[in-house]
Amino acid sequence: MTLLRRHLGAFLLLFCAACSLVAPPPVAAAPAVSRVSDIQAWTNEIYTRVAIYTGDEVSWQANTLPADPQRSLPPRIFIDIRGAGIRDEILHKPVEVRNGLLRQVRAGRFDRDTVRVVIDLEQESTYRVFALPGPFRIIVDIDGEGEIPPLPNSPVPVAAAPSASPATPPSVESPRAAASSPPVARKPRVRVMIDPGHGGKDPGAIGRTGLKEKDVVLDIGRRIREKLSRFGEFDVRMTRDEDVFLPLEERTAMANKGGADIFVSIHINASRNRKAEGFSTYVLSRGASNREDLELAARENGVPVAKLQGVKFIVDDMFTGARKNESLRLGKTVNDAVVRNVSTRYPGAQSIGLKQAPFYVLVGARMTAVLVEASFISNAREEARLREPSYLDGIADGVVEAVCYYGQNGILAHSDY
Ligand SMILES: [Zn+2]
Repeated sequence: MTLLRRHLGAFLLLFCAACSLVAPPPVAAAPAVSRVSDIQAWTNEIYTRVAIYTGDEVSWQANTLPADPQRSLPPRIFIDIRGAGIRDEILHKPVEVRNGLLRQVRAGRFDRDTVRVVIDLEQESTYRVFALPGPFRIIVDIDGEGEIPPLPNSPVPVAAAPSASPATPPSVESPRAAASSPPVARKPRVRVMIDPGHGGKDPGAIGRTGLKEKDVVLDIGRRIREKLSRFGEFDVRMTRDEDVFLPLEERTAMANKGGADIFVSIHINASRNRKAEGFSTYVLSRGASNREDLELAARENGVPVAKLQGVKFIVDDMFTGARKNESLRLGKTVNDAVVRNVSTRYPGAQSIGLKQAPFYVLVGARMTAVLVEASFISNAREEARLREPSYLDGIADGVVEAVCYYGQNGILAHSDY
């Protein structure tokens, strides 16, 4: 109970920030047509993200209840959504989890015009709640105690670890040979989540000749995975490996759930200025430093600029200090390496540099996280280059080189900073 109270204190501060993130309309003005249309949960033993989808903006409030042993009730987080209805299917179908952190997520009508979503916890936990517009959804991030179990050791002994240059892949022993080898010192593998932006119904930016951002970034993502996987020390995953739509909050949740050490979201820039060109890499921040970055973040977030501009963004306490510094460091390394690798084949590749903006896909990331804007699809020359495999290889090689640098320096072999 004390623990829950202490966390509640921290939570209230965040909740105030959440209120200003998307200012809820007055209750009386809330349209009665809003309804809870879906509830999703992504979870492991120490992390859970719950997303409550309402479509339209709603008035909401979050709170906690301690365990009630007499009534056999666990500690709970609940979110009251006013002036809203709920799909009947959700009413009768709690999301069962029972993984040591979360018992279940259930929803009901608290009173005539309030829907209450209750998260039954298995243990008292810290959590944050915030809302994202377009479509409106309330996100609850819950952190439990403990660590994600380590991955099985790499079959590649440290002695056979890759050299600094990704251009010279190491000789990898076969698993059978490794199994019969005497025990050698091994280090844990670095988990990397590659996130090709957009997909499915969301094409991202489209060039004048019809090239779609969603297709280019998937191609680049696959190249990065293929190149990084040659190094035994990386466990590489992708948020999507096909042309499917994935909500932004799900991408972050996948990285958190998988215990990723590094998250790299891949995008292609676009601008009304057809001459705009070059590479930039972004780290999450509350605001954007200029209009262009604000427009970019709004486009990538799928919301109008006005919506983003009025938003006081949540950059929670998990993304400050060392974690943010590591992201800035990786971001600079990625951008420099991408420009350098592309320049060897395409002289004159421009660097816009390391930047910061409020990208939803980076909100709540529990690891070093960057977003790469690799060229402008709105620039005729760069759109043409984005069709060339050697150009995409240059971009992928740059990301791989930067990630290798981090893996080899062991900075991110554990993310408990
Ligand atoms: Zn994009």
